[in-house]
Amino acid sequence: MARGDARLSMSIDAETLDMVVSTLREYAERALKPERLLELDRINEFPEQVHHDLYGDIGLHLLFIPQEYGGMGGGAHDIYRVSEVLARIDLGIATGVLATFLGTDPITVGGTPEQKQRWMKRIAEEGLLVAYGATEPQAGSDLTSLKTTATPVTHEGRTCYALNGRKQWISNGGVAAIWLILANAPGGASWFVVERGNPGITAGKHEDKHGIRASNTTALFLEDAIVPADNLVGGVEGQGLVQAQAVFGYTRLMVAAFGLGGGWSALERAIRYAQERVAGGSPLIRKQGFTHKLLVPNAVRLEAARAFIEFTAERIDSGKPDLATEGAIAKYLATEAGNRAAEDAIQALGGYGYTREYMVEKIKRDVRITTIYEGTSEILEWTIARDRWQLHLKSRGAHYLDWARRAEQLHVERPDVGADNAALALRALATVLERCRADKLTRHQHVLFRLGELVALAEGAAVFAERAARAPTKVVPLPPSTIGAMSRVFAREAAARVAFEGARWAVAAGKPDADLLGSMDWNQVLAGQAGGIEDMDVIAGSLAQTFPA
Ligand SMILES: Cc1cc2nc3c(=O)[nH]c(=O)nc-3n(C[C@H](O)[C@H](O)[C@H](O)COP(=O)(O)OP(=O)(O)OC[C@H]3O[C@@H](n4cnc5c(N)ncnc54)[C@H](O)[C@@H]3O)c2cc1C
Repeated sequence: MARGDARLSMSIDAETLDMVVSTLREYAERALKPERLLELDRINEFPEQVHHDLYGDIGLHLLFIPQEYGGMGGGAHDIYRVSEVLARIDLGIATGVLATFLGTDPITVGGTPEQKQRWMKRIAEEGLLVAYGATEPQAGSDLTSLKTTATPVTHEGRTCYALNGRKQWISNGGVAAIWLILANAPGGASWFVVERGNPGITAGKHEDKHGIRASNTTALFLEDAIVPADNLVGGVEGQGLVQAQAVFGYTRLMVAAFGLGGGWSALERAIRYAQERVAGGSPLIRKQGFTHKLLVPNAVRLEAARAFIEFTAERIDSGKPDLATEGAIAKYLATEAGNRAAEDAIQALGGYGYTREYMVEKIKRDVRITTIYEGTSEILEWTIARDRWQLHLKSRGAHYLDWARRAEQLHVERPDVGADNAALALRALATVLERCRADKLTRHQHVLFRLGELVALAEGAAVFAERAARAPTKVVPLPPSTIGAMSRVFAREAAARVAFEGARWAVAAGKPDADLLGSMDWNQVLAGQAGGIEDMDVIAGSLAQTFPA
């Protein structure tokens, strides 16, 4: 990942992380009971007291501030863990914390040593809320359409910039003490620090949103907001988009963890509910038509996403560069999974799910944002497809075939984690990519975007199998044998979908191609589906045991 060194190789010890996690949980049990969260949602209010408690008493913001500036120096793994816990509590409150993290990151990544000393220390010591102002009414996914300007001026004898323009959908916009504003300077897009009290910046009304209503979201209006030249992050104009990009890889992992937390929070409720709700003479949890549609696939997708998050976080923490695409895959898998899990939880609770009281309805509205902010799912499909397309071309088609061979080797050593089907998914992907190259099919945007989804599925399956074999997660209390069954289920799904949907779109955009159909190993893909129902039975049983009513 293209980042400054400041956040690479940071992490806190396991004991401190456990302490932060349990402090947060205890605080939520005491101060953020469901009734309070539903009330905040209903009245659409940002809970200032909660942020005082989280920053002032618990010192949560210190987690993402490097030690030399008074923080705890948390790494990617730490931030993933805490973000998931926060999201399980409330995604609106979690978003307020995310915004502070996002806002400080341009400084962490691109600030001069003096700026880091000045701003990071203050944020650490004073527990300041920060906002990250990139999006504009006409510039969301496409930040190159930025209209806000930063014009060099002399003000009271000092070299300054005058900021003019409008920002849209800014989390913490109306409550932040510091705003980071992306604006076009003569040398290109650049980040500027604007402090509360600057008469040139005003916040619009707190938006009336679909979900995360406890998070403050406003427009920002900049009218000759004068900031000293010292507030230009990095001291050089034109670095803003690079800094925003560098921030993305890392923060996408945080939003991925939000998807995971929101999804599991809804799913756990559905699993517990299904053990008590009797229909047709027995509890719902004993009915395959219910569990294998509404519970099991969601647990599988969420845990596949977790494996990818943990894989990416470990690599970031060990200092590996260029992990922006992995961050995008993690966010894509986790937020799509979280959103789906919450949607299915409403269905699982039937009429009760459709009312406010049972929380899943609120979680569904909250988790919806995770597929929109920090890169929409479609933009992520594009990002993933473009990057892996290049890898396919550069390696002359060998990239995924080599990976498939490694997965086949893993299957020899560990035949219980679905690595055989992951290998089939990777081989199918290589076949589809090659067909797209030969027929120039990526000129169709839809094909390119679908490739992004299939890449995420195939890589997700391969990584899940590797981790189920060598480093099954310790975060969910499921036994390793259940994680193995989950990996097998995910890999079967990936093999079937990559082969079929890849072939489908290649044929839809190109020509009916006997070669393509012939080079895909349909018999193996079908044979690989054997045992699927049995594995789902095992997972359903394990979910009921792990999350009793
Ligand atoms: C609650 C909330 C909080 C937010 N917080 C912040 C914040 O703190 N700071 C900040 O800077 N921003 C924030 N945002 C903005 C958020 O990041 C943007 O909304 C997001 O990036 C999408 O931009 P957009 O809304 O302009 O949608 P658009 O970019 O207009 O996208 C609309 C749709 O078109 C699709 N699309 C876009 N471009 C393409 C393309 N080239 N090809 C195909 N499809 C495409 C998108 O996937 C999407 O489905 C927040 C938004 C919300 C709703």
